[in-house]
Amino acid sequence: MKVTEHIKNAKETLFSFEILPPLKGKSIQSIYDGIDPLMEFNPKFVNVTYHREEFIYKERDNGLLEKIAIRKRPGTVGICAAIMNKYHVDAVPHLICGGFSKEETENALIDLQFLGIDNVLALRGDSIKTENTFRPHHEGHSFAVDLTHQISEMNRGNYMMDDVQLEPTDFCIGTAGYPEKHFEAMNLATDLKYLKDKINAGAQYIVTQMFFDNSKFFTFVDECRKIGIDVPIIPGIKPLKTLTHISFLPKFFKIDYPIELSTELLKCKDNKAVEQLGIEWGIHQSKELKSANVPCIHYYTMSNSSQVKSIASEVF
Ligand code: FAD
Repeated sequence: MKVTEHIKNAKETLFSFEILPPLKGKSIQSIYDGIDPLMEFNPKFVNVTYHREEFIYKERDNGLLEKIAIRKRPGTVGICAAIMNKYHVDAVPHLICGGFSKEETENALIDLQFLGIDNVLALRGDSIKTENTFRPHHEGHSFAVDLTHQISEMNRGNYMMDDVQLEPTDFCIGTAGYPEKHFEAMNLATDLKYLKDKINAGAQYIVTQMFFDNSKFFTFVDECRKIGIDVPIIPGIKPLKTLTHISFLPKFFKIDYPIELSTELLKCKDNKAVEQLGIEWGIHQSKELKSANVPCIHYYTMSNSSQVKSIASEVF
């Protein structure tokens, strides 16, 4: 079932979460171990992120450089199929532009349709570590809006390969939104204009980047509505976990901590204290969002479901 249908049928705020495919070498059990503790909260869908491979170049004896994959997370598509099969919940694979030609994207979408997966979150993806800025595949898409167009075209039966007759797909397309603006955007207004383009291209709901200040989310929703974005907007919540998050999350995701939270964070002496604060702040944020009747609260587990479980036990 589509994410938008789950939202339409829901009588109250839904619970959902995102998992990361494990690093190569781990088994599917590591995915199940992350999902099992959260099933009691009746998630209607589970997102599975996609990560590009990371490479190093090693010089061989003959002077040539060998490209070696050092970090690979296997099969988002396969993991989604396994989740749907085991838990009978909808899985939402993340599809990114980076590293893919349009043809490879089309093939991935054909696989998804074949497996009965009718949800996708269409994203651009970030630059890889060896690049300063995002560089699209030479036969791929530069922005998420272009990927969204491609999926919408397939939903209309328009494939790249026109030598075979294929059924139209029926994907429900989600897209990313940034309450504190995307870090590359010139300003929030421009970012929102591009967000609206993604909706016009066929995206049917928005999942936001993490934020720690609910007022930023509420303002973002108001600004979206003012410019005619009327699709469901799902807040994304990430519980703080370690002392490194004090600077890492603001730096990496370009988000601010509200004063009340930063004051408490500075009192934390170790990871355990941050973890506890992360749970308390997550409960506080979630209860307020739920009272505001958001359609769903989406948790970033980052391969750690115990904090999300503690929060969900108080909220759902
Ligand atoms: P876009 O919507 O393409 O926007 C990127 C930037 O370009 C923005 O600054 C926007 O304002 C600007 N822009 C958009 N359209 C145009 C245009 N036509 N002309 C000029 N500028 C334009 N990354 C992963 O690699 N894997 C994942 O699984 C993943 N999951 C995510 C899930 C969520 C909910 C979110 C919020 C992010 C996720 N990301 C993931 C990170 C995401 O890929 C990055 O934030 C990326 O930098 C932007 O992706 P986007 O889809 O928002 O891009």
